[in-house]
Amino acid sequence: MARMIMSLDNEKDTMKFTLLGCGTSTGVPLPGCSCKVCASGNPKNHRDRTSGCITLDDGRVILIDAGPDLRYQALKHKVERVDSVLFTHAHADHILGTDDLRSFNFVSRRRISCYGTQETLDPITSAFSYIFQPRAGYEGGMVAQLDPHVIDNDASGEIEGNTFSFFPLQHGGMTVTGFRLGDLGYATDFNKISDRAMEILAGVKYLFIDGLRYEPHNTHITIPQAVEIAQKLHAEQTYIIHTTHTIDYDETNAKLPKGIELGYDGLTVNF
Ligand SMILES: [Zn+2]
Ligand SMILES: [Zn+2]
Ligand SMILES: [Zn+2]
Repeated sequence: MARMIMSLDNEKDTMKFTLLGCGTSTGVPLPGCSCKVCASGNPKNHRDRTSGCITLDDGRVILIDAGPDLRYQALKHKVERVDSVLFTHAHADHILGTDDLRSFNFVSRRRISCYGTQETLDPITSAFSYIFQPRAGYEGGMVAQLDPHVIDNDASGEIEGNTFSFFPLQHGGMTVTGFRLGDLGYATDFNKISDRAMEILAGVKYLFIDGLRYEPHNTHITIPQAVEIAQKLHAEQTYIIHTTHTIDYDETNAKLPKGIELGYDGLTVNF
């Protein structure tokens, strides 16, 4: 019975997830690097900084992180509005597009809700203090109109009327927010996954997961570790994200097991 209900739910497929970028913090190619992947003509070896967006059935958009490539990604992948932003953590490659959110305020003439844990929102609100604590007499154009909302990594939370199951991910000394929303699981930037995350992601249909490279790293999991986690979860289709310039799209994909692939910028799934 439960299975039948799940498959009926799947048929609805009312939401769309677009991977706006799947590159590590530097992006790929790296300026000045002439390695095989950076010099490659394969568009799937061009990776903007990792972020994504969820488009709801009525067109509302929930952005996952606002990285430094946000403006370009929005133009390239036709993101025409942003209603809410979920920040996974406050590293520069996930927040430096915060200022550019104002373009969406200009167009929609509405404020944007920003969600993150207190740990994530504190550095964002201080880095962009002119947005979050504007002083009287500020000169220049309109700053972004953003409303911060604190979430709890150990609980569920509502964004644009949808219930997200949040979970914590360990990223060196930092705690990152991962989530599951229906058939979509998203876990970027981590070197250690929590039991809560494993429980929530079990059996997920589409899993987007960190997998920096093959060599170990102290704040990210490797591609083999991502494969191991995806297999433990019995994820139906896994896309590895946040990859670096040592990872060639075609060569790496050929080595990955069935149902596990590298993500690429512009990839979409309906769920
Ligand atoms: Zn990152
Ligand atoms: Zn390179
Ligand atoms: Zn990070």
